[in-house]
Amino acid sequence: MILEASSESYPNEFGAILRAEEGIVSEILLVPGTIGGESHAIFRLYMLPIDFSVVGTVHSHPSPSPLPSPEDVEFFQRLGQVHIIAAYPYDEVSWRAWDREGKPYALEVVD
Ligand SMILES: [Zn+2]
Repeated sequence: MILEASSESYPNEFGAILRAEEGIVSEILLVPGTIGGESHAIFRLYMLPIDFSVVGTVHSHPSPSPLPSPEDVEFFQRLGQVHIIAAYPYDEVSWRAWDREGKPYALEVVD
C-alpha cells in the first residue's frame, strides 16, 4: 500500500504516519495538510492527534535513493522509532526502514 501510494504521488513525495498494534505496523495515516512538493514532503505535526499508537513515519523519495537526508533524520527524532523511506521506482526492494538516528532498522514484512 505504501509503495502504491508513493508511486501514485510521483513525482511528488508522499508522507504518512505509521500506526502499530502489538508491535506490527497495521495502519498508515495520511497527515492532513501534508504538502507533497517536488523537493520534500512536509508534515504539519501540529495537525496530528495525540495518539500513542503512532510508531513512526513513512515518506517517499522521487529519486532512487532511500537514504535519509539530514532533514529527514532531524524529523525522525521528533516522532516515533521507525521511519520508512520508499524510493523510486517503489518496488519491493527500493524501500528501507531507519531508526530515529537514521541508522538501518530491521523491519520484517509480515503482511
Ligand atoms: Zn526524505
